[in-house]
Amino acid sequence: MENRHPAPRAPRVSFVSLGCPKALVDSERIMTRLRAEGYELARSHAGADLAVVNTCGFLDSAQAESLAAIGQALSENGKVIVTGCMGAEPEKITARYPGVLAITGPQQYESVVAAVHRALPPRHDPFVDLLPPEGIKLTPRHYAYLKISEGCNNRCSFCIIPKLRGDLVSRPAADVLREAERLIAAGVKELLVISQDTSAYGTDLKYAASAWKGHEVRAKFLDLARALGELGAWVRLHYVYPYPHVDEVIPLMAEGKVLPYLDVPFQHASPAVLRRMKRPAAQEKTLQRIARWRDICPDLTIRSTFIVGFPGESEEDFRRLLDWLDKAELDRVGCFRYEPVAGALANEVAPAVPHAVKEERWHRFMGHQQAISARRLRRRVGTRQQVIIDQVHGSCDKSDPVGAAATVAKGRTRGDAPQIDGVVHVASRRPLRRGEIATVRIERADEYDLHGTVVGF
Ligand code: SF4
Repeated sequence: MENRHPAPRAPRVSFVSLGCPKALVDSERIMTRLRAEGYELARSHAGADLAVVNTCGFLDSAQAESLAAIGQALSENGKVIVTGCMGAEPEKITARYPGVLAITGPQQYESVVAAVHRALPPRHDPFVDLLPPEGIKLTPRHYAYLKISEGCNNRCSFCIIPKLRGDLVSRPAADVLREAERLIAAGVKELLVISQDTSAYGTDLKYAASAWKGHEVRAKFLDLARALGELGAWVRLHYVYPYPHVDEVIPLMAEGKVLPYLDVPFQHASPAVLRRMKRPAAQEKTLQRIARWRDICPDLTIRSTFIVGFPGESEEDFRRLLDWLDKAELDRVGCFRYEPVAGALANEVAPAVPHAVKEERWHRFMGHQQAISARRLRRRVGTRQQVIIDQVHGSCDKSDPVGAAATVAKGRTRGDAPQIDGVVHVASRRPLRRGEIATVRIERADEYDLHGTVVGF
């Protein structure tokens, strides 16, 4: 029989998420909320009734990318809502695209959802509550970003994030732990703890405790890391500002409670540059701390990021940075050329470094550090490492003498974060699954990656 009252089609929204993992978490929250209300997510702007663009405004190049994404959404769909960091400066968007329907700022989940409601009302459907309890995730099923706070109380002179996102606002510990538990129940094996400033967690709450499974957990970096470590997943700490109390978390890494991995953005090593950056400037002491961390936890992987060509950086400052890198022997390092972000105090503290000098220093920096990173990586050859499998490429080598086809996969050791660090190319006689953790004997290292064979599970 013909259905004379077909259910109206669900309203469809396409979504573009630009920027850092923190923005990705914002996108996941907005999408979760929209899905809960019965919206469908479209794969393309053309197949959607409305497009949402979550922008990044950190650097001028990121703003240019965000503006291009808005332009593309407008030409392919026409109905566009903009949110995220660039939303803090709406005039930059409206000047170029007066036709966008609404602009909201970072973390304004309610405002962006309200704007979607206005432009594309939700369909009433009592059966839409089919949402998985862990929400919608943009990462693969086996790892997830866990955001523990918003904003930042530091005032690094090159950074406009505190202007865009405000001062630090931490989530109560029990709230974070509940989300972590839900994610793990849904199959997540690795939690990537993020915020603007992870080690400052809870200072705004005066470390207030909240109730979790019959006891109290304080909103404190160490206490939260310990409680997360008890949930049975890998816990990786990102964006750790080098405060002295970071030292306290290293024993947890040595005990295997959280991953022996620390992502600490040192930014520079010359005291004069660090002072102009308004960052802690005692880099000799930092070297001693790094040595102590490695004494306590010899497996520790340290990742960091640096800026070269900061205003006023002299050749001597830069050489000091290279010397410091030699002594620090960091495992993984990213380097940015200084960009004069509009509104950043750093642009006024000293004369700009000429573009050609910045380029030349960046290449020197990368070449210098590459040799150090490669040396550190080679130390893993011959060891056995736990590897989490990210991608399985399938089977090959049907002529295998024992009759089992070899599986080729890509994974990561406990010392490698997804997207930013290296991978392990893995061969295995037994089929592998995504998210599985295998023991791999490391046979070879190239510049960035490792190669090995599964020897156990
Ligand atoms: S700690 Fe990070 S987010 Fe905070 S001001 Fe410095 S660079 Fe910006």
